[in-house]
Amino acid sequence: MMLTVVLLGLAAPPPPTLAATPYVDAVRAEAAKIVPGLLKTYEWMHAHPEVSGQEVETAKRMSQELKKLGMEVHDKIGGTGIVAVLAGKKAGKGPVVLVRADMDALPVAENTGLPYRSTKPGVMHACGHDIHMTDALGAFAILNALASRWSGTVVAVIQPAEETGRGAAAMLADPRFAQVLAKTGKPQLALAIHDSWDLAGTAWFHPGYSSANVDSVEIVVHGKGGHGAHPERTIDPIVIGASIIVELQSIVARRTKPGELAVITVGKFEGGTKHNIIPPVARLLLTVRSYGDEMRDFLLEEIKRVAVHVARAHAAPQDPEVNVDPVSVPSTYNDPAWTEHLRQLFVAAIGPERVFVEDEKSGGGEDFGRFPKDLGIPGVMYNLGATPKAIYDARGAANVPGLHSPEFAPDPKATLETGIALLALAVLEGLMTLPAQ
Ligand SMILES: [Zn+2]
Ligand SMILES: [Zn+2]
Repeated sequence: MMLTVVLLGLAAPPPPTLAATPYVDAVRAEAAKIVPGLLKTYEWMHAHPEVSGQEVETAKRMSQELKKLGMEVHDKIGGTGIVAVLAGKKAGKGPVVLVRADMDALPVAENTGLPYRSTKPGVMHACGHDIHMTDALGAFAILNALASRWSGTVVAVIQPAEETGRGAAAMLADPRFAQVLAKTGKPQLALAIHDSWDLAGTAWFHPGYSSANVDSVEIVVHGKGGHGAHPERTIDPIVIGASIIVELQSIVARRTKPGELAVITVGKFEGGTKHNIIPPVARLLLTVRSYGDEMRDFLLEEIKRVAVHVARAHAAPQDPEVNVDPVSVPSTYNDPAWTEHLRQLFVAAIGPERVFVEDEKSGGGEDFGRFPKDLGIPGVMYNLGATPKAIYDARGAANVPGLHSPEFAPDPKATLETGIALLALAVLEGLMTLPAQ
């Protein structure tokens, strides 16, 4: 019995060294001090939303704010993207930590009634990317104020077009991105936040996969058109398409392991012109969600196999075309060790009653995951609750406006005070515990 206890004790992972804990009070005090000024920046961001790929004014403002902090700013990377570099002032070489924030808004007509509501009809920061940008600016201001305490480099990646899944890929594909990293050294940890409709001032971790591979697939079914009264003289692509839709359900229900994320949704099925004409062609549009490369490849292969063989069973004159959109979003994998490390740090910073771990499988997409995946480094994206306490208490967790809702209205003060302190501490933790480059 003794021996078992000793062995178990040895098998337990060593507690992480929380290097940034001594800075908790100073960082929280600094965050509280700078938030009133940053609220103006947040309100400007919220009032001036720009949709994916068109973040021109937003990028200009971000660039100015980053320069004010003394950061080295590289503009127009992957479209409107920015890479900004902050160097520590403590002697010696240090590690490199990447922080990503996104800039784009959504084609949503705002319905919040806020005094700083969107000035652009039909466009709104309904996903809270304005919070992410302001949060990052606040964290960089604190890291800059503490620069004499750390050595190393913070690489800020301010990306466009998260909502279309194109921004991260566009930045990584731009040769200037690699040129900046060649100077700073390769990042060893990638961090990002996403706000959520949870109570403002809380933080949420999702160890492992936190968002899904998102693939769009088009299936074009070929038949033989003709008169609706004489089906024997046609090959009906509508019936073939309907059979494909039914057979696709078995891929998830029967051929993937229960509990593993696999979603195949046919969101659009079109073909034909009127009641009595059998068309020559029908078209299906699918969204496919999964975690990891293996499941992604399996689902895409199965979709192709099912479509082709169902069409052959119906004697289709040619195999259907199965086109996978090259714009694909990879799943985000939160490194379990770093997730736990940061969770302990956050508990030390804001208390266990405000830090949560959630294990729910999400089929949502988020292209932050491309940075750690392509760079081959650990990454963590955590959530920051944003809903004002009064609304949360009055409506209950299930009924508060969620992300992409025209009524989504974060409590900026509470969200930013917590968010800025936590992000600054998380980056500091990376800078103080990772090996020097
Ligand atoms: Zn969104
Ligand atoms: Zn978002």
